[in-house]
Amino acid sequence: MSKVPLAIRKILIDARETFLPRLCTICGKRLMRDENVVCLECISTFEHTCWRGRPGNGAERIFWEKIPIVRANATLHYNRATNAAEALFALKYHSQERLGAHLGRLMAHDLDDTNFFCGIDAIVPIPLSKQRQRQRGYNQSERLAQGISNVTGIPIRCDIVERFKDNESQTRVLPHQREDNVRGIFRVCTKEDLSSKHLLIVDDVLTTGSTIMSCGKTLTEAGCKALSVLTLFVAGRKPEGPYAYEDEDDNVETLRHKYIHSPRPPKQC
Ligand SMILES: [Zn+2]
Repeated sequence: MSKVPLAIRKILIDARETFLPRLCTICGKRLMRDENVVCLECISTFEHTCWRGRPGNGAERIFWEKIPIVRANATLHYNRATNAAEALFALKYHSQERLGAHLGRLMAHDLDDTNFFCGIDAIVPIPLSKQRQRQRGYNQSERLAQGISNVTGIPIRCDIVERFKDNESQTRVLPHQREDNVRGIFRVCTKEDLSSKHLLIVDDVLTTGSTIMSCGKTLTEAGCKALSVLTLFVAGRKPEGPYAYEDEDDNVETLRHKYIHSPRPPKQC
């Protein structure tokens, strides 16, 4: 396509738009020429967390004292009454694989000009069970990871950890049952030494964090000492108790020191 002269390329694009119009994967409206996968109107309704990987953000606090993470971030707030819910539904249940890579690029670009991806060796999408992946035809977290990898150049590794038990969907169990529901469902499937790896776990929604914690625990028990987490959405209220916070929290470094037991600092970039 790159060798086709610009004028002819424009004619071909116009013809395609006329006979095979591209539609927004969320609202179904026809896309304008400079829009891709999702229309600008839908994108404008997404509610950004604006955390941009900032230390002590709401995503990070969910993992404090649970698993030793280096950094965590969620790009968008999940709200059932918005297009974000439509996007997630399309991504998970309507075979919108292209949407996954598109939103993955959004997740990565949200962290432009930050050190979030600094020192990360590989992206590990939360795996589906073999049965679930067969039914869906793809892993939505892997599609998000593809978009992140397109932007950052960090490789995706789907051969490190697998989900060998098919648990009940987390959306069908009560919040306090979620940890039990995902306990022991992952196992490491490589003999590779992970002790020098900083892995980025990627998932679609962060709610209680139980699934990511279960996967992260499996990886740390296998020797991986540095984990970070990136999700498309964060759902639910702000953390309460010792992890409660205001958006500008003066004590954040003290609290991080107290609650993050990361055995080694991230590599410097
Ligand atoms: Zn739209």
